[in-house]
Amino acid sequence: MDGVGNVFGRWEAGEGPAVLAGSHLDTVPEGGPLDGTLGVCAALEAVRAMKEAGIRPARPVEVVCTADEEGRFGGMLGSQAICGEVGADFIAAAADETGRPLSEALAEAGLDASGPLARDMGSVAAFLELHVEQGPVDETRLTVGKVALSPNFSHSVAGEAAFSVVGRDADDGVLTSLRAATRAALERAAEAHGLDLAVREASFLPPTPLDGALVGELHALARSCGLSTRLMTSGAGHDAQTFARHCPAGLLFVPSVGGVSHAPHEWTAWPDALKGATLLARAVARLATR
Ligand SMILES: [Zn+2]
Repeated sequence: MDGVGNVFGRWEAGEGPAVLAGSHLDTVPEGGPLDGTLGVCAALEAVRAMKEAGIRPARPVEVVCTADEEGRFGGMLGSQAICGEVGADFIAAAADETGRPLSEALAEAGLDASGPLARDMGSVAAFLELHVEQGPVDETRLTVGKVALSPNFSHSVAGEAAFSVVGRDADDGVLTSLRAATRAALERAAEAHGLDLAVREASFLPPTPLDGALVGELHALARSCGLSTRLMTSGAGHDAQTFARHCPAGLLFVPSVGGVSHAPHEWTAWPDALKGATLLARAVARLATR
């Protein structure tokens, strides 16, 4: 385990940069059982299956469980620490929405983030992640949540309303315009109603294309396994998005029943999970043996 709670299991084999596979172990409040955990279990199972099949990798293989992918402290702490996008400065300044400092939460968990966290990305050949599919993603979306009124009482007019706004789009230009338009709309509404307004931008994660060659290879591999495939844009952020800025990265979605995720009843039909896990195992084996 590293200083921010990422867990690595390394299969020492061959030489050169390692193939990494995994996902995150945290989920949102009121989340479900599969979110990132399915991807961690599938990566572990991929290594087991390779060992059982007597496959001898030409390079190391690592199972990665990242910490705080859901951004309790903003961004994606685990994968961003691995990739060197956040370090001591971020850790010293970050706090969750209750004001709890990240440094305190780490200390309470017995973690010491004072050592080096960033990994030499030259030691990573590729990152593969299996994840449950998360909802429709073909259009721009704004989600308003976490509304807190103060005072929050039936007979009182609230004096203050705090809420979050999350914007998603696959296009950086659209996302940037959306940010400006949202801010302008809030300012107009505040002015029209004579309200004070304070806006704090918690994070901006740019849309990130995955590695085209790797994505093509995953499609071909899926078809060779007799699986139907569909190229999808992810509206939600994932660890693969962080890794993709630093190494070839691929993301495999398995279908969520009813398109539901981040909810207690999120589920993936087990035959679908099995297909995804099989494809992940074949992809890890392919990348690790060449
Ligand atoms: Zn997730």
